[in-house]
Amino acid sequence: MVNCVGQMLEKIVDGLESGKELAKDELAALLLSDDLAGTDYLKKRARYVADCIYGKDIYIRGLIEFTSYCRNNCFYCGIRCGNQNAQRYRLSKEQIMTCCEYGYTLGFRTFVLQGGEDAYYTEEKICSIVYGIKSRFQDCAVTLSIGEKSRENYQAYYHAGADRYLLRHETANQEHYERLHPKELRLENRKKCLYDLKEIGYQVGAGFMVGSPFQTLDTIYEDLQFIRELEPHMVGIGPFIPHKDTPFAGTRAGTLEMTLRLLSIIRLMNPRVLLPATTALGTIHPMGRELGIEAGANVVMPNLSPVDVRKKYQLYDNKLCTGDEAAESLHNLKKRMADIGYRIVIDRGDFRRE
Ligand code: SAM
Repeated sequence: MVNCVGQMLEKIVDGLESGKELAKDELAALLLSDDLAGTDYLKKRARYVADCIYGKDIYIRGLIEFTSYCRNNCFYCGIRCGNQNAQRYRLSKEQIMTCCEYGYTLGFRTFVLQGGEDAYYTEEKICSIVYGIKSRFQDCAVTLSIGEKSRENYQAYYHAGADRYLLRHETANQEHYERLHPKELRLENRKKCLYDLKEIGYQVGAGFMVGSPFQTLDTIYEDLQFIRELEPHMVGIGPFIPHKDTPFAGTRAGTLEMTLRLLSIIRLMNPRVLLPATTALGTIHPMGRELGIEAGANVVMPNLSPVDVRKKYQLYDNKLCTGDEAAESLHNLKKRMADIGYRIVIDRGDFRRE
C-alpha cells in the first residue's frame, strides 16, 4: 500500500518535471500525503532541477525595509495603517545609500527596497533613490517592492534604473482576496500591476503566503495556475504568521512542510524561477532557510536595514531580523549554506534565460 502511494507521488512528480500541468487531485496528493518517501522524492527532484540551472550557487539580496508607513489595511499585515501600535519610520535617501555602501562591501550585488505603500515617497523621490544606487553601484541590481502603483510610476522607476519588482499577488482567488483585504484593494488591479510590470521589462516576482486564513487547496491551485499563466521570474512564498495587532491575531500560522512542498512544486513547474527561502520560513523553523534550499529555493534575502529600525518593520510576530538573518552575519549564513553543500556568490543573481 505504502509503495503504491509512493509510486503515485513519484509519477506526479515525474509528470511535473516533464512539463505536464498539475491536476487538482495531484496537487492534493502532493500537499496532503504523509508518505515521506514520496514527498522526499518531490523535494529531491526540485533540488536537482535547480542544481541543473543554478548549480550550487545561492544568490543573496540585501533587503532594505525603508518605510513602515502604509496607507493600506491588509488584514494580515502588522504594518497595516489601522495598527495604532505599529512603530513608524522612514529612511532618507542618504540612509539608504549608506545601507547599500555597507552591503556592497559585504558582497551584495542586489538591493531590494521594500516598504509599505507610503505616499511620502513620490515618484520623483523613488526615481532619485534608484538612480542614486544605480549610478554609485553600476554592477548591482535594484529590486523595488513598494506595492501597487500606476503604470506611469512603474515606467518611471524602470527608466531610473530599477531592474526587478516584487509584488506578491497574495491569492489568485477573488473571494479569498476579499477575505484578506479591505474592499478598496482589488485583485484585478494587483494582477494588472504584475502584467504592466512584466510588459515594461522588469524581472517580476509574484507570490503568496502559505496557510493564510481561509486558504484552501482550491485557492492554492488557482495560485499555481496564475503563476503558470504569468510566468514570473521570481516567486516569493513563505508561511503566513499571525501578528498580535491584526484581525488575524490568534489564527494558525502556515506550516514548514506545506511551504517546502510548495517551493518544490513551484521549482518543478518553473525550473528557472528565482525562489527565495524567505525570512518567514526562517522564523517558523531554525533550519527553515536550509530546508528551503534543499527543497529547491536558490535565493536568500538577509536584512540590510539600519539596526535601530529593524524591529519596527514587524509584519508578523517574532519576525527574525538579527542573528543569521542580518546582513552583517553573512559569514554565518555562508557557513550554514556550505554545511549543506551550497555557496553564497557575489553576483547580481539575474534570472537565467538559458
Ligand atoms: N507594500 C508592498 C506590497 O504590497 O507588496 C511590500 C510590503 S508587504 C509588507 C510584503 C509582503 O509581506 C506581502 O506581500 C505579504 O505577503 C507579506 N506579509 C505581510 N504580512 C504577513 C504575515 N502576517 N505573515 C507572512 N507574510 C506577511
